[in-house]
Amino acid sequence: MIIVMSSKATDEDVQRLVDALESRGYGHHISRGVERTLIGAIGTPDGEKRSVSQQLMRLANVERVVPILRPYKLVSREYQEETSIVYIGDAPFGRGHFGVIAGPCAVESEQQTLEAARAVKAAGATCLRGGAFKPRSSPYAFQGLGEEALKILAAARDETGLPIVTEARDTSHIELVAEYADAIQIGARNMQNYDLLLNVGRTGKPVVLKRGLSATVEEWLQAAEYIASEGNLNVILCERGIRTFETITRFTLDLAGMAAAKRETHLPIIVDPSHSTGHHSLVAPMTLAGMAAGADGVVIEVHPHPDRALCDSAQQLTTRNFARLMDRVRKLASALDVQLGESAHKE
Ligand code: PEP
Ligand code: MN
Repeated sequence: MIIVMSSKATDEDVQRLVDALESRGYGHHISRGVERTLIGAIGTPDGEKRSVSQQLMRLANVERVVPILRPYKLVSREYQEETSIVYIGDAPFGRGHFGVIAGPCAVESEQQTLEAARAVKAAGATCLRGGAFKPRSSPYAFQGLGEEALKILAAARDETGLPIVTEARDTSHIELVAEYADAIQIGARNMQNYDLLLNVGRTGKPVVLKRGLSATVEEWLQAAEYIASEGNLNVILCERGIRTFETITRFTLDLAGMAAAKRETHLPIIVDPSHSTGHHSLVAPMTLAGMAAGADGVVIEVHPHPDRALCDSAQQLTTRNFARLMDRVRKLASALDVQLGESAHKE
């Protein structure tokens, strides 16, 4: 349930309410708006829900107690109507800010990553991606360079200024990844790895949460709620294609699901035209389609030499084609009245 404080509520009123929640076995999350403070009660109360809500109504300057009917709370638009802005470093996503995360599927070497980073920066990307711990379908495929890759990404950030996004595949990687990365990615195959979700939640770092291969929108939002339940609302959802009967594309980019999810959640949502299509020729049309459908950003795989890439060779864009695509992205951004790139001030 969500407790809406009246506009007259003082800090003491809020504290009294928080104490009342705690004494009844609830956790809480406070969201201070310009007009009102909202408090989300997290967990299951010791007492009966209806009577707890009536008791809370008796406290000073509590305006309303709203039961949440959805299986997710903190990430829902019932909790917060306005779309959130989530920052990766200083790159904003959401509420009219469009972010572009670009870079290779995997960090393969310092030279390959720096080359990619310089090119995507010059073309207008706002964040750099690159896998250090790769979730591969085959145990014999390239698994990533681990910490060495994280050091390379950090060097690329130092040189280009681009914040870095990289995946933590296992709870044992989180501490290390959090040390280097500006945002931690949770891969599609891990969307329902609840320990991983809770643990990245605890880092407080921005999280890019990919939709599972066969997850419904509701399951995806519940996964985000796991992260939020640890007090971390810096979550960017990523629609990366779901498995359908269609085999001409690697997955099916579910733009309707993305738009439907945006109706349900205030969290920003980005699309991944690379993994969803599996082919470089489909990346531009799906980037533009995602933008037009209201996505808050994209994540695009770019490799300086896709013909030599150690993974996902077919879907990675050359740096030249990425730059061409970015010209079209800028035009569409202006038509859609969304801002591309850094905003000088955190809002
Ligand atoms: C990735 O982005 O590197 C990746 C492996 O994506 P996904 O988890 O969506 O397959
Ligand atoms: Mn990849």
